[in-house]
Amino acid sequence: MRQVEDAIKIVLDNIKVLGTERIPIQDSFGRVLGEDVNSSIYLPPWDNSAMDGYAVKWDDIKEAAKERSANLKITGDIRAGSMPDKPVGKGEAIRIMTGAPVPDGADTVVRVEDTKYEGDVVSIFRSGKKGENIRKRGENVKEGDMVLKKGTLIGSGQLGSLAMIGKPVVTVFRRPVVNVMSTGDELADFDEKLTENKIPNSNSYAVASQVIEAGGVPHVVGIARDTKESTREKIGQGLVGDMLIVSGGVSVGKYDFVKDILKEYGIDMKFWTVGIRPGHPIAFGIVGERPVFGLPGNPVSTMVTFEVFARPALMKMGGHTSYFRPTVDAVVEEEFHDRPGRTHYVRAIARYKDGKYFVRSTGTQGSGVLMSMAYANSFMVLPPDKEKVLVGEIVKVQLIGRPIEHD
Ligand code: AMP
Ligand code: MG
Repeated sequence: MRQVEDAIKIVLDNIKVLGTERIPIQDSFGRVLGEDVNSSIYLPPWDNSAMDGYAVKWDDIKEAAKERSANLKITGDIRAGSMPDKPVGKGEAIRIMTGAPVPDGADTVVRVEDTKYEGDVVSIFRSGKKGENIRKRGENVKEGDMVLKKGTLIGSGQLGSLAMIGKPVVTVFRRPVVNVMSTGDELADFDEKLTENKIPNSNSYAVASQVIEAGGVPHVVGIARDTKESTREKIGQGLVGDMLIVSGGVSVGKYDFVKDILKEYGIDMKFWTVGIRPGHPIAFGIVGERPVFGLPGNPVSTMVTFEVFARPALMKMGGHTSYFRPTVDAVVEEEFHDRPGRTHYVRAIARYKDGKYFVRSTGTQGSGVLMSMAYANSFMVLPPDKEKVLVGEIVKVQLIGRPIEHD
């Protein structure tokens, strides 16, 4: 049986990175940079004061001490946002505010706290160090410096940096547009009556939200009924945009038409079973240029296989440089018995205590028990040969972006 790692590799090998678009930086939070960003300015643009104080020549104050002040003539005042209009001469000081440009002639700023003034004379009680309290031109960024690399996820720090270098518009990767489709005669959407033979369609909405989390734009195509005609029609509608995700109907049941219809549409099927629990079978192929996933219909299997296979694909499409969730080592808190043979993504609760992660399963692991996903903040990833994990054992845990408990 094809192992999970191989299948992920096949998926990624068949995914192309999308193109880019230009957007205002105010809208760029959560987007992925589509260009290397270099600064076109110096920051700070001039030497400026790090303190409210006095700009002086250090030679004039180097002997200053508590009991022996250096007394200088105050010749002016510079606020942040104004430019100096005269230099500091010998025996002189110019009052300066934090962020204001240091005037010519001055090499040091003395903090207000180390001074006292009367009229136009300031007494300085501390020599400090030459050059103190001055932030140098270009100390933060120089013109031409690379500030952020293509492929960087734009968070607050990155967005702030873009604003800081005065860049109003930025190139980002386009968000993948993903069509999400469900299959099944038993499914009722929100606008349908939940009659005795129906269950609510949950996969469309769970997957759509997973698409959003992976940086994509979901389009919910709706439900194909378990006939060839309906499946053909809905898949046809879904074969637009950057990716199609179908849930259900990929198994070997009498009414599972998804694979047949994808074949009609000329799919180049890359695989349709993988050694993963939950979630076998799972189909992946290419129709034209478009990747298509046929995820198993059981709600937990759908979500887990999305996480494992479709999410990295969307991350790559969207221009990210790393595609995977963080994995940590965790100490098992409760014994867990497993059926060997496939890589098991056990829905789990990880918590952090005394510098270590601890993990336990969410309980019942049935592939239809969606609550196991609702309570999980992680997957305990157990290799195919594992039959049980014991308390105190160390296992690999994949964090899935949910809050982690801690004391
Ligand atoms: P299938 O893969 O079509 O055989 O579906 C497997 C199981 O998942 C069945 O019990 C279905 O009722 C259920 N299922 C399939 N699609 C959905 C969906 N969109 N929402 C909720 N349950 C579903
Ligand atoms: Mg079905």
